[in-house]
Amino acid sequence: MEEVEEWMSPRKRFLSAMFSGRVDRRAVGSATSVATIEQMEKTGAYFPEAHTDAKKMAKLSAAAYEILGYDCIMPYFSVWIEADALGAEVDWGTEEKMPDGTKTVFNDPEEVTIPEDFLERKATRAVLDAIEILKKEYGDYVAIVGKVMGPWTLAYHVWGVKNTLMNVRLNPDKLHRFLDALMPVTVEFGKAQIEAGIDVLMLADHATGDLVSGKTYKEFLFERHRKLTRELKVPMVLHICGDTLDRMDYIAQTGFDCFHFDSKVDAFKAKDVCGKRISLMGNINNPQTLLYGTPEDVEKEADYAARAGVEILAPECAIPTRVKDENLKAIVRVARRYPGVG
Ligand SMILES: [Zn+2]
Repeated sequence: MEEVEEWMSPRKRFLSAMFSGRVDRRAVGSATSVATIEQMEKTGAYFPEAHTDAKKMAKLSAAAYEILGYDCIMPYFSVWIEADALGAEVDWGTEEKMPDGTKTVFNDPEEVTIPEDFLERKATRAVLDAIEILKKEYGDYVAIVGKVMGPWTLAYHVWGVKNTLMNVRLNPDKLHRFLDALMPVTVEFGKAQIEAGIDVLMLADHATGDLVSGKTYKEFLFERHRKLTRELKVPMVLHICGDTLDRMDYIAQTGFDCFHFDSKVDAFKAKDVCGKRISLMGNINNPQTLLYGTPEDVEKEADYAARAGVEILAPECAIPTRVKDENLKAIVRVARRYPGVG
């Protein structure tokens, strides 16, 4: 297949693709981390420092455009920034290991308080400063994507995964109250990132296919997600891992402009359910294809997603840092052969 003529700026292409709009060629860019050890070596910005140091964060995240040729830059690599600022204990990990929480913070929704200096904590401040640096350097040309955790992920982090999941049945009222108490965290951090200059905001809410049913999504998150898309007035991406086909019809009605989805969902089936109501991003498998496959294997999967009409080709989720850059670049090669969807 021949390459399509490329004339749009990455930012213009990415933003248009967010709304299933006209593009010169298929967009590429991830709302989750694409940072690798190779990129750390090339930029001199390494994990774990890049999780909390704005300059390193900006430098490493810009590799998505500078080294990989993606259409967006997303500087928030982990999922622990807000929880850290709320007082959770976070182990920031190593070059290979992503951060993880070591202790939850709250037992009751009534205990949830947002510290006055929430936006000035080391990690939250780093994200905001990194966005400002990136906006200044790339803002006219490359799309800058911010990221917040939704109330479900925040509940996992400050109350515990087990508590959250157990109380879907045991005490749904308490879970509802926890989610309500955590909504302002998402809103406050989202608004601060909008002010710092992002073009697009990604909301990660890990009501993951394997742990949470479509029915639970409807009961606890559907209305809250609708509310968040109305309060945070930027183009928005929702990210949920796992097999989410059973909730995609709901997700398409939330007001999110794009859904970042897992390879566990067949791209054609996802398109069938979503249609033009919401754009799609992602779908390329991390643990097998990107980590252990060849560039040709990646091309094959990217090609499948492109044929299905996935608007933004991308890895399915934050990639393991051992993934080779040549595999991540293979996605761009496929995108260049495909005209837009719209
Ligand atoms: Zn994920």
